[in-house]
Formats: sequence, structure tokens, C-alpha cells
Amino acid sequence: MRASQYYIATTKEAPSEAELISHKLMLRAGMIKRLSSGIYTWMPLGLKIVRKVEKVVREEMNAIGALEMLMPAVQPAEIWQESGRWEFYGKELLRMKDRHERDFCLGPTHEEVVADTIRKDIKSYKQLPLAVYQIQTKFRDEVRPRFGVMRAREFVMKDAYSFHTNFESLLATYNDMYSAYCNIFNRLGLKFRPVAADTGSIGGTGSHEFQVLADRGEDIVVYSDECDYAANLELAEALPSRSARPAAAAKMAKIATPTQKTCEEVTQMLGVELATSIKSLVFEGIDGKPVLLLVRGNDSLNEIKAGKLSALKQPLTFASNEAILEHFNCQPGFIGPVGFNGITIVDREVALLADFICGANQDGYHLTGVNWGVDCAEPQVADLRNVQEGDCTPDGKGKIKLCRGIEVGHVFQLRTKYSEAMNVTYLDQNGKSQLMEMGCYGIGVTRILGACIEQNNDDNGIVFPLNMAPFEVIITPANYNKSEVVKLEADNLYNHLRANQLDVILDDRNERIGFLLADSELLGIPYRIVIGEKTLAEGKVELYNRRSRETELVEIDLVVKKVTELILNERK
Ligand code: ATP
Ligand code: MG
Repeated sequence: MRASQYYIATTKEAPSEAELISHKLMLRAGMIKRLSSGIYTWMPLGLKIVRKVEKVVREEMNAIGALEMLMPAVQPAEIWQESGRWEFYGKELLRMKDRHERDFCLGPTHEEVVADTIRKDIKSYKQLPLAVYQIQTKFRDEVRPRFGVMRAREFVMKDAYSFHTNFESLLATYNDMYSAYCNIFNRLGLKFRPVAADTGSIGGTGSHEFQVLADRGEDIVVYSDECDYAANLELAEALPSRSARPAAAAKMAKIATPTQKTCEEVTQMLGVELATSIKSLVFEGIDGKPVLLLVRGNDSLNEIKAGKLSALKQPLTFASNEAILEHFNCQPGFIGPVGFNGITIVDREVALLADFICGANQDGYHLTGVNWGVDCAEPQVADLRNVQEGDCTPDGKGKIKLCRGIEVGHVFQLRTKYSEAMNVTYLDQNGKSQLMEMGCYGIGVTRILGACIEQNNDDNGIVFPLNMAPFEVIITPANYNKSEVVKLEADNLYNHLRANQLDVILDDRNERIGFLLADSELLGIPYRIVIGEKTLAEGKVELYNRRSRETELVEIDLVVKKVTELILNERK
């Protein structure tokens, strides 16, 4: 590729709406152009990288025997009504009508379509197991599209689905997918971690997310250096920090807290630790009455865990201020368990507190020295809080650490959720109709670009791993359009590197060398050969490594061999 004939549209500044460095750099490098909120055009340079990612994904999917297919983006409402998700998916599902007033949606995912296809086609156990995948454009009307292609509305996903006669077979494919995902992210040069993830209504332990580690990631990854425990924050079980409740020592007392509504304010006023206070949260119960959930003042409620409590309305809904006033007789800042006769569910840590502080169910007052079994009944206990750094891992083998991640992949044992809803069956050996076991496996193909750049950048721009770079090597000549010798050597090198099948670009644009160098830094091209009259006079060129930022002078006759070796060794 010659830069003069390519579409390079780099800029010095990024639009101010870009919050994340990866989003800024992708815009500055001219990889994407915003058309509308969360909707982007992939420019040639960006698409070239998308295609490289897709190639790796395809190779690994094909290697485990998954078959590529392509399903429609526009999907009829009927199959979504059958699965129950026409209602459940909510506003993220972009709906539309055709000329006959029939309902359709733009596919955010393809479980319904693939289940419908398979149930019509696969009849016998002899045709199973089966794994199919596609690389296709999805649309999700995200509440807050942001971070460029990382939380877009329109994006490219690789989604795979597998169908089985039994759970063991599903597990085998699930494990194959898990390994294939590790291969994909390793080949792309990403630092990532597979973590156990929530399986929602399906239950069990059959889901993992693949998280690219990055300080500005939206997700929180829970892990330990002492053991191989890794989970996302939503799922991570929080063990209590002590084994038994200390004996009650204090007597309950009411204290005036006229302006102190939060645990922080009350404990600060009293000069005691935040962890001795409890935070009261009120949700709507299934019977419409309020349910009180309690966590320590220094903890935060895990809404996924709370969402699994059978006493609560789905989806989780905070009780209204009117309901709170009716049942607690006070404002939200002064609620507590003493005297409340509805359902109270407390976190494990709260159950182990003695002499704690809580709201008095009277405006302007809190209670101190409160004890379970003395001042109020022994509560229902559940794991309700988010884990914190330093907690024990659930296996008790290590201490928990937290870091941030970007979810780039998700594998999930769906079991018979969709088969049941959509009647996806096969005939077994005895001619009996049985439900298929099903798995689904997603990769955010376009999100990977953002995640990779978020993880690999410096002051000068992007620092691509080789397999994701738009080009493997760039030839940057000084005065290509003025110096005959420079042009001759640059063309010569270019032809040799191309002959060696390297992905090379010759920057023959008629610009100052400083400008060309800055562009090659911004674009993150792993290797750069700078050709100038001065070093040529000594028979040498400059070879620069974008990642180590080291430069060496190499004999012009040796540079092709050297660069080819470096790149072939690194290609995965
Ligand atoms: P998230 O929690 O980030 O919204 P999700 O759980 O909704 O993700 P899945 O339904 O499992 O995601 O989709 C599979 C993959 O598609 C995700 O792992 C992610 O990499 C990618 N993805 C999901 N939503 C988006 C989006 N809005 N923009 C870009 N990629 C996305
Ligand atoms: Mg989502």
C-alpha cells in the first residue's frame, strides 16, 4: 500500500465528546467517523483492523468445528413473542413496522432466529451436536451509548450457538469455545482474564466473561493473586469477615440527627466507624408491600444479588417515597429495622453486627446500640453486598483484589431456556421427542478495537500489538518526492517487503518528515523503517520499534531480512 493512494485522515485534535483515550485515538487516527449517537462509519483504515480481528475469530471458530452462517438483521416480532423477550428486552430493542403494519425489530442478538432455524431443520439426534456462528451487525438501543465503538448502538458481534442432545455434550462444546476464546484474545495480543459471570434466571455456574484489563473499563473484575479465583463483581460471593456475632454490650438509645441522613454523616457526628452503621434500602415486594434490605454503611448493595431474592418484584424497583412514608412514617434518610413489621433481609455482615446504628423510623433521629434478637427480631440473611478489596475469596484460599475490565466476550450455557420457550426438539434413539440443550457464545468484534487501544497507548498515540496493527511495517522516507536516492531505496525496500508477504505501507505522501513520523506513531504501526540521505550515505537505514521505542541503524542490505524475521516470529 502506498500512503498517497490510501485513505489516511489523521487529525491533531479529537472532538471534545470523546471521553476515553481509545475513543479519542480512534477518531484522531481516522478509523471511525460518527454518523449519529452510537453509530459509526468504519473508514478503510479501521475496517482493515476489524477484518484482521475477524480473520482470527473465524480461524479459531472453524478450528473447533463451528460452521459459519449469516442470519438476518431484521427479525419478525413473532419469534420474540414466543421466547418472551418482546416484552422483557425493553427499550434496548429497536422496533419497527413494515408496510403491512407487522412488527419487526433490529436484531440485538440471535437466539430466537437460530432457534427457529434449527427447530425447522434438525429432526434427529443423529444431526447433533451442532455449532454455528456468524459475524454480523447488531443493533441495541443502549441507554447511554458512549466510548465510541465500545458501547455503540450499532456494532459487529461474532455470535455462536450450539445445540446438543445432552448436558455433557453442551459442556464439551462450552469448553472448546472457552479455549478458542483464550486463543483468540492471546493471538490478538490482549491482556485479558476469563471470569465467572452471572447466569441470571438460568442458574448454575455456566457462564464466563472475557475481560480485557483496563483502568477505565466499565466492569469490575474480582480476582486473587493467591489462587485462581476470578469473577465479575455482579457474581462474586461475599463472605462475612467474622464467624460469629459479638455479644451485645450497649443499650438502644435514640439520638437526634436533624441534618444527618447518611451513614457517613451520622457516624462522623458520633466519631465511630462507618462499619458500625447500617444502610437501609427499601424495594417493592412481590405483594406490592415494601421490603427492607440492609447492608453495612461501608458496603454497597449488589443489585444482581438483590434481584434474585424471591420476595422482591422483578425487575428490582425502589419503593416510592409515598410507600416509605406510609410504612415507615419517615423520610428515606431515617429508615431502620426497629419497629418495621414487613420483610427485612440483611447482608451476612449486618447479621453479625452487635450494637449497631440505624435509622429510628422518625424524621431527625437515629438509634445507637441496636441488637438483633433484642431490639428487633432475628432477620432473614442473604449475600447482598459487593465484595471489597481484602475480603476472602469464596474458596478461602486468597484475598480479593479488584480491577477494571472491558467485556469483550461472553460464553453461556443456556440449557433449555429457549428450547422450552420455542419448542426446539429432536427425536432421540427411541423416537421420542426431547428438548435440545443450547449454548451461546458472543465476541464484541468492534469493541475489541477500542479495548485493545485502551490497553495499548502512550503519549504519541496507539501502540498496536502486531496482529491488530493496520500495517505491520511502515517505510517513512525523508523527502521521497525530492531525493532520487531516497525514492529508489524506499521503492526497493517496499517491493522486497511486499514480496515477503508483509503488510507494509510506504508513506510516499509529500509532507514533512516530522509530520510523517507523528502519523506513524499515532497509528501505532509496530515497525518503522526511516530512510534519509544522511544514513543512506553510510549504507544504513533506521529501524524503529513502536512498542520498545528503540531505534537502531541497520545495513540497508540486511533490513528486509531482519524485519521479515521479526514479524514472522511474532505473527500468531
Ligand atoms: P454489556 O454488559 O457490556 O452490555 P452484554 O452482556 O450486553 O454486554 P452480550 O449480550 O453478552 O453483551 O454480547 C456479547 C458481546 O458483544 C459482549 O461481550 C460485548 O463484547 C459485545 N457488546 C455488547 N454490547 C455492545 C455494545 N453496545 N457495543 C459494542 N459491543 C457490545
Ligand atoms: Mg448489554
